[in-house]
Amino acid sequence: MLATLAVGGYIVFVVQAGADPMIAMPGLIYLFFGCALVFGVLMTLPIGGADMPVVISIYNAFTGLAVGLEGFVLQNPALMIAGMVVGAAGLLLTLLMAKAMNRSVSNVVFTNFGAASKHKQGAIKGELKPMAAGDAGIAMRYASTVIIVPGYGLAVAQGQQKLYEFVKLLQTGGVSVKFAVHPVAGRMPGQMDVLLAEAGVPYDLIFQLEDINDEFANTDVALVIGANDVVNPAARTDKSSPIFGMPILNADKAKKVFVVKRGEGKGYAGIVNGLFYGDNCNMVYGDAQAVLIKMIEAVRGLGLPAAA
Ligand code: NDP
Repeated sequence: MLATLAVGGYIVFVVQAGADPMIAMPGLIYLFFGCALVFGVLMTLPIGGADMPVVISIYNAFTGLAVGLEGFVLQNPALMIAGMVVGAAGLLLTLLMAKAMNRSVSNVVFTNFGAASKHKQGAIKGELKPMAAGDAGIAMRYASTVIIVPGYGLAVAQGQQKLYEFVKLLQTGGVSVKFAVHPVAGRMPGQMDVLLAEAGVPYDLIFQLEDINDEFANTDVALVIGANDVVNPAARTDKSSPIFGMPILNADKAKKVFVVKRGEGKGYAGIVNGLFYGDNCNMVYGDAQAVLIKMIEAVRGLGLPAAA
């Protein structure tokens, strides 16, 4: 960063002396961009998976500021206004996301500057316990309360319509169903809210992390569907974990947990999830949409009021 600033300062000095830097010292211009590139890469490489959305958002904000400044240089009001709007929106989003993740922006960006990942995950006790989709569906039909945690895999599978169809079946059978949305679930801020809204899920069934987290402990079933990092208990306990400190959804505290995913793939942060090995957890393997279709068939097959 210091090298970039020094080279940039020298170029400005030369320009003010009246020379065209591209002609007088093209090498320095390339050096300036080279230093900036190395700085950017070093700053981004050690950012842990959970912090990445904050970093993406802050870089978006910087893009807007750069465009705005370019507008000043070129005396182009359209560029200035567009740049400022992008910069301000990006900055606001960055602050909101950092707050939701319980981190300060400087902590996210600078804590591990230039370092390689130090994370070494210890062995996880327990075993993965697979379960058939139909059996999991029927178990939820006989539960009183179910909280659904949607994640990136649900969006990949485009399973939101089938998920809401399944929820309506459960509700018809008298089960209380809620959705718990983590601020960084998916790959874009607000992606899960949009996904659920697209399927027609009423807003009063959708709860944000801080509003629902205490309810998991009194819930019969947590259905984790295509989510992984946002329910990884390592965020609470493992100080070397890239997601340490991120608030997570307390799915592990539910009496029973069903996790729908295709196999043993990791989440965005690339770490194993101890929740899956818990005594109260069963894995329902398969594409989220295909699994939901089987769950719906199984619950309909019961011929109870839910089948109406
Ligand atoms: P994760 O990325 O942690 O996990 C998604 C899981 O979905 C995987 O473990 C994968 O397992 C499973 N999956 C993938 N495809 C399917 C499918 N078709 N059917 C069923 N399951 C599937 O997702 P989360 O939403 O829990 O967490 C989001 C992560 O992304 C966080 O780490 C966050 O920091 C990061 N992030 C978020 C951004 C945001 O703005 N929201 C932006 C950038 C990063 P398997 O392969 O076994 O199926």
